[in-house]
Formats: sequence, structure tokens, C-alpha cells
Amino acid sequence: MSVQQLLDLIKEKNIEFVDFRFVDLLGRGHHITLPATEVDADTFVNGVAFDGSSITGFRGIEESDMVMMPDPGTAYVDPFTAHATLVIVSNIHTPDGQHYERDPRSIAHKAEEFLQQSGVGTTAFFAPESEFFIFDDVRYESTMNSSSYFVDSEEAAWNTNRKEEGGNLGFKIGVKGGYVPVAPVDSQQDIRSEMVRLMQESGLRVERHHHEVATAGQAEINFRFDTLTTTADNLMKYKYIVHNVARQYGKVATFMPKPLFGDNGSGMHVHTSIFNGSEPLFYEAGAYANLSELALNYIGGILYHAPALIAITNPSTNSFRRLVPGYEAPINLVFSKGNRSAAIRIPIAAVTPKGCRIEFRTPDSTANPYLAFAAMLMAGLDGIKRKIDPRALGYGPFDTNIYELSDDQKKEIRSAPGTLDEALDALEADNDFLIEGGVFTKDFIENYVAVKRAEAKSVAIRIHPHEFGLYFDC
Ligand code: GLN
Ligand code: MG
Ligand code: MG
Ligand code: MG
Repeated sequence: MSVQQLLDLIKEKNIEFVDFRFVDLLGRGHHITLPATEVDADTFVNGVAFDGSSITGFRGIEESDMVMMPDPGTAYVDPFTAHATLVIVSNIHTPDGQHYERDPRSIAHKAEEFLQQSGVGTTAFFAPESEFFIFDDVRYESTMNSSSYFVDSEEAAWNTNRKEEGGNLGFKIGVKGGYVPVAPVDSQQDIRSEMVRLMQESGLRVERHHHEVATAGQAEINFRFDTLTTTADNLMKYKYIVHNVARQYGKVATFMPKPLFGDNGSGMHVHTSIFNGSEPLFYEAGAYANLSELALNYIGGILYHAPALIAITNPSTNSFRRLVPGYEAPINLVFSKGNRSAAIRIPIAAVTPKGCRIEFRTPDSTANPYLAFAAMLMAGLDGIKRKIDPRALGYGPFDTNIYELSDDQKKEIRSAPGTLDEALDALEADNDFLIEGGVFTKDFIENYVAVKRAEAKSVAIRIHPHEFGLYFDC
């Protein structure tokens, strides 16, 4: 959409306010709202100023003036405001008109340009499956309740259900019992359908929704793949609508990877493929899982760089409480065409040449999508450039149940880092693949690591409720 078309749209739809949005380092949305009467063609040349010093991970106090440069193609009508409001996503510029090198959205654009310059292909497509929980309220106690430490997790979840819902055990979902049951077991169809309706109204092409595996309230809505930056924009819109519809229903939605101890967490599996024009580059008929050599090298790059990459795709202390065995969260840094404990799975059911893709299952929705997709693409492209063969490095394919391998075989399999600090160590040791072509900068990586180290430390120094169970009676 051109600026003129957008200004016409504002008139046509009687828009009263224009809401300029940007995304911070952590992937949170921020906004400043202008009356529509204050918005004209100049707004798209001069941008909208804001104070960067108050935004996590952006500028220091001494250089706080930043500018949002709206991207007219991203406009949609906010479905929640009482006054007709048009949302426009912006890139962040410095006051002298340069792209701000810590702006996640600018990094996403640079990654797309880097792909084109690399000569590998023209377009990378992304599709995230971002899972979340819908709770009645934030119940920190449900995860600290002492029963959930010492008894079998199934019993713990069942107790939680019973306690919370007045003893009525009919049509309740037990631990890991939530995968696609019909109502009344699934009590959230209407909420999800309302989310989908508003997503469609806001321009997302939604493909399906379902109740996810964990006990009552875990959900997933899938929207259609698109190019890198647009998919990250779409994910921001998706989360905004999920959070706000939950609130309208008097509930609260969270994308936190592991809100409940003893049950499945919420992941954000990311599907990717690369095209050259209309030609799918990941497909080769008759090869293993119909994967081309190029796709295998892309997988090789992701798996080779996975420990560092995970600092960006799983960037919270809570991420690593999800990445534990037994909950469909992949910790094995291998690939496979079926095995869901593998970090990379190749979907083979109902796949056409154009639909041939890889699914990286490790990420979760605490990731900033602009950074996560850009970093994944950079890792994969490095694999292509260096012709990293994942088979030669022992990364698979593993199509048997990994739990049934011998101990010696298991020892050969690398695992995801166990903590955020370990992932940050890996990122500090391995980041040249990200700064290729200036997509990420050294300054960005150093600042990112510092912000995340502080986060990890803030958790580590606090007294954990479980410590009371372990040590109080000493
Ligand atoms: N919730 C699981 C995860 O943490 C995935 C479950 C699924 O989609 N099959 O990745
Ligand atoms: Mg899914
Ligand atoms: Mg799922
Ligand atoms: Mg999946």
C-alpha cells in the first residue's frame, strides 16, 4: 500500500486515530497514538519521535531521541479500540535518518536482503506454530503448590484441576490430556474462534485452531506462511489479538514456555522453506524425506549453530524449563522425518514440492520473532555456504525412538543447552554467522547478551519456592 492509498483509507474508513507501533529487543510491542488529523504525507517522511532510553535494550539516556518510520504496507484496523484506530508497524531510525542497528525489524529486513545477495534464492518463507495457555487468572501458586514437587506429576495436575474447579471431575482434562477433545472437555472453542475471527478481520489468513496437549487451556492457532519480516509482523498481530481477546473474556493468555510444572509447555515450532522465484529449493523427489542437498545443508547450519541460535530462539530462563525430556519439547539436536523429540522434523504427510519444508521445533514464543527468524535464516545460509552435511556430523537422520537407542548411541547426540546462561555462552563463542553481511552487529550481540545475562541473574538470585520444600526443615 502506498502512502497516498493509506491516507485515502484513513478518510474512507473514518479512522480517528493512527497507532504507530514498534517492537523492542525482547519482542514486546509499544505504541504512540496520533489523532488522524495530525497524520499526513509528511508523517511518513519525518516519522514519529519517541524516547528510546526508556525501552529495554535500546539507547542509553545520553542519546534517547529515536524515530519510528511507519511502513504503510502493515496497516490494519485495531479490532479492540472504542475509537476507529489504524495500526501501522514502524522501523526505528536514529535522529540522523539511519536504520537503528538494534531495531529488530530492520535486522529482519537485512536478513532478507542478505538471502537475495547470497545468490541462494529470492525468498524464505516462515510459519510459526505459537502455542499458548488461556488461564482464568495468573496463578503462580499452582506451580509452587508443594504437592506438585513431590508427587507424580499426573496426580499433581489432577489435584490442581479438582481444587480449582470445585471438585467437579466431569469432563476435565488431565495432564497431557488436552489434544483435540470435543466440548464440553474443550471449554475454549468459542474463545479461540473469536480470536480467529478478529485475526481474519485484521488481515491474517488463519488455517486452523485446536486445543493443545496440556491440561485445560492450552491452545494453538495456525496462520499461513509468509516472508520473514511479514511473518514476524503477523506473529506480533497474533499475540496482540490472543492477549486482548482473552482479556475480553475475563481471562489471561500467556505465551510463557512453561507455566505449569509437570505438563507440556508451549513451543513455537517454525516451518521454513526457500524459493528461487517460484521454484522450491528444498524439494528433491525420491531423496530422504524428499529433501534436496541444499535443504540438508540448511539443516546442517541450524543444527551446527543451534546452541548459539537457541540464545535467540529460546531467550528466557523459563525456556529451559520447557526443554526437558518427556514433554514433546525437543532437546536432541538432530533431524528426523517423524521423531518429535528431534530439534528438526521434516513433515512428510500431505506435502507437495512447494510445501516441502523443515520444522525447527526448539523455539518458543518468548523469542523476538524478527530476531529469531533472521538468526535461523543466517544459520541455515551458513550451512548452505559451507555445505555442512548434517549426516556426516552425526546429526541424523534419526527415525527410531531416540529413547530406545543404546547408551553409546545416545552419547553421540548433542543436547540443547540446559540454561539461558549456557546458551549465551554459546552465542558469545559462535556469532560470526550472524554478523555476516552486517545483518546483526557485534554491538547488537554484546548488548543482547548483557540484557539477557541480567535477566538470568535476576532469576538466579531470587529465593525459589521449591527451596522451601527442599531446605526449610533442615
Ligand atoms: N507443546 C509441545 C512443545 O513444547 C509441542 C506439542 C505439539 O505441537 N505436538 O513443543
Ligand atoms: Mg501444530
Ligand atoms: Mg502444537
Ligand atoms: Mg509442529
